Amino acid sequence: MTQVENKQATNDTPFVPIEKIVALCKRRGFVYPNSEIYGGVAGIYDFGPLGVELRNNIRRFWWWSMVQMHDNVVGIEGAIITHPRVWEASGHVENFVDRLVDCKNCKRRFRIDHLPEENVIQNKCPNCGGELMEPRTFNLLMETYLGVVEGERMKTYLRGEASQNIYLDFDNVVKSSRMQIPFGICQIGKAFRNEVNPGNFLFRQREFEQWDLQFFVHPSEMQQWFDFWKEKRFEWYKGLINHKERLHFRAHGPDELAHYAKQAYDIEYKTILGWQEWEGIHWRQDWDLSRHSEYSGQDLSYVDQNTKERYIPWIVETSGGVDRTFLNLLIDAYEEEPDPTGKEARTVLRLHPTIAPVKVAVLPLQKNKEELVTTAKDIHKKLQRLMVSQYDDVANIGRRYRRQDEIGTPYCVTVDFQTLDDRTVTVRERDQMTQVRISIDELPLYLLERVTWH
Ligand SMILES: [Zn+2]
Repeated sequence: MTQVENKQATNDTPFVPIEKIVALCKRRGFVYPNSEIYGGVAGIYDFGPLGVELRNNIRRFWWWSMVQMHDNVVGIEGAIITHPRVWEASGHVENFVDRLVDCKNCKRRFRIDHLPEENVIQNKCPNCGGELMEPRTFNLLMETYLGVVEGERMKTYLRGEASQNIYLDFDNVVKSSRMQIPFGICQIGKAFRNEVNPGNFLFRQREFEQWDLQFFVHPSEMQQWFDFWKEKRFEWYKGLINHKERLHFRAHGPDELAHYAKQAYDIEYKTILGWQEWEGIHWRQDWDLSRHSEYSGQDLSYVDQNTKERYIPWIVETSGGVDRTFLNLLIDAYEEEPDPTGKEARTVLRLHPTIAPVKVAVLPLQKNKEELVTTAKDIHKKLQRLMVSQYDDVANIGRRYRRQDEIGTPYCVTVDFQTLDDRTVTVRERDQMTQVRISIDELPLYLLERVTWH
């Protein structure tokens, strides 16, 4: 990936209050509450014009890094609805639950695992001290029905996690591609969780987008591939952020580990809310393919072409998502700094240039000089074929720079009177606010080198 010199963040850079990110997201068209005109739906969000560009870039960069750049990794795109037995085999029907209690007095609802122990023991509401009702269990799978005729309708679920499709398609991929173990299957896709109490903003959503790598190995090579992908994923996130010291591994303790897992790690990012999980690196052993073999009656073992050994492959899983990456990158990038040249503070999103929703803005110095305007529009039209470009001639040049800083646009190209003489333009860089003069002919290559991954 292109190395770009971002302004070095330091340990004492203050954390940004989440409210500022939320306000920016709404104001500039990154994130909107879903169905807002009807009062909204908790835990569900829409993404605006800049939000969708940012998400597309995040997805493409993950896909490029994981699938395109690895000869032994392929991708699939599975359906959101699967056979209901999938969720019995996966354990979600049984275990994907929240245990909740309501207070008889103040009617507030709590997750039992979030209550202080003494409240559970004394059956006492932490809010008002009132008596708590009997706990009830809620399954988080979102139910849906296939078919229209009552009695013939099949109850199933919107997938509770995207990765199940990869296990379901494992045998088809082996038979239809030339993949041999060790190899991996990647997928990006929506998943659903019927949270009873969704969190604020994008922290705990009911509809979200996950990405997974399931990497299939011979048991004897499990440790080496686990270490390989653990390191790879950490470096991937580190390459995208400014505050490198806010990223770390957290090892799962013995009580958190699934019975089949030898080890597991979370890559975590520190925000004003403390350390938050960003991606999980999981040791899944032969659990998933064994379960699906058992529940489907189909043998999902693998035969080594050379040794003829037959075995259930073991799996290294790396599991993160678009939403969390989107949120963490915004938190990481948001900065307010005093304007060194003026009076106003400047808000700037220091997004990595390859991820930024808009790559370049083309600005005529004045909008009432026709030659400046036509030249600028001409440059914009040419750049637009190569990258997301915006043309802007509204307000003075300083205001236009600020608007672009706030949405993270890494470069602004200004067409001025010198342009008309020598066909050069000013390229202003977002973070350092440095300016260089470049000929119009060299501009596309100059920008492409800096705003695309390669
Ligand atoms: Zn209460």
